[in-house]
Amino acid sequence: MDISRGFHEFASDNTAGICPEALAAIAEANTAAAAAYGDDQWTAQLRDRVREIFETDCEVFLVFNGTAANALALAQLCRSFHSVVCHTHAHIHTDECGAPEFFSGGAKLLLVDGDNGKIDIDRARDVVARQPQLHAQKPRVISITQATELGTVYSRDEIVAVSEFAKAREMYLHMDGARFANAIANLKCAPKEITWRAGVDVLCFGGTKNGLPAGELVVFFEQDLAREFDYRIKQAGQLGSKSRFLAAAWLGLLGNDVWRKNARVANDFAQQLAKRLRDHAKIDIVFPVEANAVFVRFTNEFAAELEKRGWHFYKFIEPDVYRLMCSWATRAEEIDRLLGDIERVRPTSS
Ligand SMILES: *Cc1c(COP(=O)(O)O)cnc(C)c1O
Repeated sequence: MDISRGFHEFASDNTAGICPEALAAIAEANTAAAAAYGDDQWTAQLRDRVREIFETDCEVFLVFNGTAANALALAQLCRSFHSVVCHTHAHIHTDECGAPEFFSGGAKLLLVDGDNGKIDIDRARDVVARQPQLHAQKPRVISITQATELGTVYSRDEIVAVSEFAKAREMYLHMDGARFANAIANLKCAPKEITWRAGVDVLCFGGTKNGLPAGELVVFFEQDLAREFDYRIKQAGQLGSKSRFLAAAWLGLLGNDVWRKNARVANDFAQQLAKRLRDHAKIDIVFPVEANAVFVRFTNEFAAELEKRGWHFYKFIEPDVYRLMCSWATRAEEIDRLLGDIERVRPTSS
């Protein structure tokens, strides 16, 4: 099937367009000549705005995408003989083509399981304890994803527990926040409560899935950790010369709490979608719906029938778990349309 056709609404949260506030901010920044390579007023303003949001004097850097944010942040914390503890479903393990290993010059990922996409601390303890000193790469970082790849959210206490685990072993805590906004919309807390106050050292703060065209932030909560990170970004080809447009879009998202509103919309639609799938279509929802993802059990035949009707979505876990995502741009009519098609092909469902 021609992938440019059909309905991509629930395939991912990056199939959505640019939110109007970000787009307007880009247009507004499209004026006279301005300084390049991040020396412009928009980038400076963005740094201030991020410090305001996190209520601390953090170091803020812009890169083009989430893979670069994660890989460069981890490379900054690790040397080639170090390792990074992460969940089996972590994006840094499954979806980044080895970028963290590559940019760190060989740091290894140590995989840990845990329910609902969250690292199980007891299992992490076992994995770290099993690394023979000197003979295995030294565990240096533990990486958690907030919200997780399975659409769940770590509570503040769960993050503190991971942080205590890390600090006791002289390890850093990295947070992949590609959907940080969705986690905040769920927890309704101040951003500092689940980041630096809970022991997070570096946050990759995602904007793309929340309504930007591109551009993610790497936020270091300790200035020493950010030393020469600007060089690392430049060497990796991630320093935008027209950085002002990335920064302007971010300012559009962070102004008037648009980022929180967008995440709330996406999360609320995911709740509605899950409820209707469960209650009306009797479809099994696999993980707690705490952010903007809904994981469902479909037979392959059922999924194929929906695909024939034009719907795009991904199988996430073999043999039968598929992911439906909502975004800031999801509309109630699209959920109606999907549910209508599900009703029509239902006889083959479980
Ligand atoms: C989308 C995503 C990223 C970033 O991916 P890019 O495609 O490189 O921007 C990182 N982590 C998680 C958990 C994601 O879902």
